[in-house]
Amino acid sequence: MRVKVKYEKFLPVLTMAKKQKIYVLDTSAILSGKPINLNDVDLVTTSGISDEFTPGGRDYKIFQFLKEKGLTIHSPSKDSIEKINAVSKKTGDLSRLSKADIELLALSLDMSKDEENEVVILTDDYSIQNVANALNIKFESMSQSGITKRFKWTCRCRGCGKNFKENIKICPICGAKTKNIVSGKKAILK
Ligand SMILES: [Zn+2]
Repeated sequence: MRVKVKYEKFLPVLTMAKKQKIYVLDTSAILSGKPINLNDVDLVTTSGISDEFTPGGRDYKIFQFLKEKGLTIHSPSKDSIEKINAVSKKTGDLSRLSKADIELLALSLDMSKDEENEVVILTDDYSIQNVANALNIKFESMSQSGITKRFKWTCRCRGCGKNFKENIKICPICGAKTKNIVSGKKAILK
């Protein structure tokens, strides 16, 4: 009897120590062809990403294979989509993210709210990585090296040199074209 009590006392500690690892896959991760370690890992993606794979092609076979291996499809909450919109506007990534990218980030945010989950986004997209980092969500790159610096995009006018936070193509002051520059680099601690 005494042994049982002791065991129960330790049980919550043991449960907390083991987090469930969840890989959130974007299209680039699915198509990378790189082996994904499937042991003890949940694979998830969004319906938006799923829609990018239409029956018939080679890509669809890869997608089907992952589904057979346990890849599940989820829809993110509206709250999280709004949050991603707000955060990516701040980092300057909003115009670089597709609807599917935003949903993927929102789903990752939803899943990281459960403290028992260890969420990792698998993506080669720098803007997804940048927003994920701003939200303290982990990411892993499949083929590229992955960003090591958190960065902020700014638009600079080629004519008068004024900087704009918004992604605008034509300068409202002098009418010249703008270019994208990176500002505010900050090292990411991995
Ligand atoms: Zn200008």
